[in-house]
Amino acid sequence: MADMTVSCVFCGRPVNPNLRETYRTIEAFDRPGKQGGSDVVLRKPTGRYAHPGCVDMERAGINVRQETLV
Ligand SMILES: [Zn+2]
Repeated sequence: MADMTVSCVFCGRPVNPNLRETYRTIEAFDRPGKQGGSDVVLRKPTGRYAHPGCVDMERAGINVRQETLV
């Protein structure tokens, strides 16, 4: 297998898509679900990847912003 690396969508540094810890972005369709959740269907990978640390930081930032909206 080729040692391919791609750029992290958040920090732009190389990320190895073959590592289990690496996140990949997906494209999907989402609609409100019956129990207050959401139905997410037709997921497909977009070929973009991110470091777990970068995803954690982004999630933390989004949580902060959502709390200020409430
Ligand atoms: Zn990163």
